[in-house]
Amino acid sequence: MGWGDELMAAGLAAHAVREAGPSAGRCAILGVDGRRRQHDAWKDDPLVAKPGETAGVDIVNGPGARPYIDRWDNAARRWHFRTDWRPYGFRPRLVLSQAEIAIGEELRAGGRYMTIEPNINPINSPNKDWGFDRWQEVVNRLPGVRFVQCLGPDSRPLHGVHHLKTDDFRQAAGVVLRAALHVGPEGGLHHAAAAFGTPAVIVFGGFVSPAVTGYPDHHNLGSGAACGKFDPCPECRAALDGITPAQVAGLIERFR
Ligand SMILES: [Zn+2]
Repeated sequence: MGWGDELMAAGLAAHAVREAGPSAGRCAILGVDGRRRQHDAWKDDPLVAKPGETAGVDIVNGPGARPYIDRWDNAARRWHFRTDWRPYGFRPRLVLSQAEIAIGEELRAGGRYMTIEPNINPINSPNKDWGFDRWQEVVNRLPGVRFVQCLGPDSRPLHGVHHLKTDDFRQAAGVVLRAALHVGPEGGLHHAAAAFGTPAVIVFGGFVSPAVTGYPDHHNLGSGAACGKFDPCPECRAALDGITPAQVAGLIERFR
């Protein structure tokens, strides 16, 4: 729930423009209150209407109105997800600036690399957290792979990888753009990888199913459950524990 949601919103806005025909121009993204929303995820996107711009079509997509969420159960502290929301050919979308693209281009000029993200956004459920030590073991099993980890202010750094300080999600996405592979948990950067067509190995576990927020061209490791609970859950833990560093490293090997 964050940047990934807004990349999905941009993808749906572009879909709405395509469906409406070229004369639609741009799509406005409205909140549940009917007002036009703005987000940095869309700032360079010519298909999403900015303040003062005309829009030939609009969609409702924002907090309280995400197409893959059925409802929030406050008593059980869990999301109920939908698996039937996708329009045909749906992709998330992120249009980067030239400066953001250049971050990945510069890295790529130094050789082929893979992005790795061991941290989950603290706003997310602990049931998405595979565990930092497992990510470290994946790195340890693959000496010679040039891993790049983007570091925000709260990131815990892995050993044995290239660290790159990034100021925001968009800069990190610029690194994912030119990566040979992205590996990490279900989260914002896996949607960015899907937006760019970057291959990915994604650890889902049991919190949300790949059928809900996964992409068919990625390797998605999950139990198929979509538990959605925010409190630590034994089933989700078991689903995560069933995914081994050897299995993740084996999938990464295919992209070396
Ligand atoms: Zn669970």
